[in-house]
Amino acid sequence: MVDGDPADEFRAAVERLTELADEVAAERSQEAVLDAVADLRVAIARAYRGRRPRSDSGGGARKRILAHLVKHRGEWVGSDELAAVSGIGEWARRVRELRGEQGYEIEEGGGRYRLVSEEPDTVRRDRFKTVTDLRNADGSATERVQALLETLVGQAVTAEELNRVAHGKDGAGVARQIRSRELLPIETSADAPDLNPGDHRLVSIREIDRLHPSQRLFPEDLRRQVFSRDRFTCRSCRLGRLSLKVPRDQVFYLVVGHLDAAPDAVADLPADRLTSLVRLATSCNRCTAAGVSG
Ligand SMILES: [Zn+2]
Repeated sequence: MVDGDPADEFRAAVERLTELADEVAAERSQEAVLDAVADLRVAIARAYRGRRPRSDSGGGARKRILAHLVKHRGEWVGSDELAAVSGIGEWARRVRELRGEQGYEIEEGGGRYRLVSEEPDTVRRDRFKTVTDLRNADGSATERVQALLETLVGQAVTAEELNRVAHGKDGAGVARQIRSRELLPIETSADAPDLNPGDHRLVSIREIDRLHPSQRLFPEDLRRQVFSRDRFTCRSCRLGRLSLKVPRDQVFYLVVGHLDAAPDAVADLPADRLTSLVRLATSCNRCTAAGVSG
């Protein structure tokens, strides 16, 4: 079998598509249109003998997707459209790159995408770079997660960011271990209602702000019960986790206080009394340090 001239096949496919223009306008004969497009692609592939366009290891596809989204900024664009524009199967990954490393705000819903602003968000881009740099750093998952929390001290770190740095491991679980082992004041939504589920925030890196070892005895679900019952407010000083306006150089976080024992003696309590909700009260780091509670 002798193959025809690819250029002739290309022309024939273009002609066929031109003939179908009215069908497209009337939203008819989609199958026939797609067949003609497929013929066109085959002719192109043959004409260039399988040579890939230069430098199109994803970068070209990403540019085309961005250009398409920019052209339709503020409108919802279907995933089939993005797949067609990119010309590659990995279009979803390119969208993730645009969002992540390039900082474009692209909303997603029901398989459709919408570019919010033509300008990338530089804060978002810098944040992504911080997380990426730590993900690529040496050391164990624990060391990298701790470094991330310390780098972003005072800020909420999402579960997704923790997982990235932990190389797909349970980043939130790693953060919990760090809190317990190093006694770092790491908050979750159990400790501070402004955090979303899965978020973690290291309140302070100062040695003096470490948790008292007795706090190891009060796991996250127990803290959640005590703090939410007390409306996230210290029973001694009446300062709340949300209402309080702490100056930048001061540190405030909630701790669990036991009504029957001072922090140093809590571990000696019998287990049932130790975790008895009615004997537990919300306190804060400052009152505990001052010896007010307990
Ligand atoms: Zn207090």
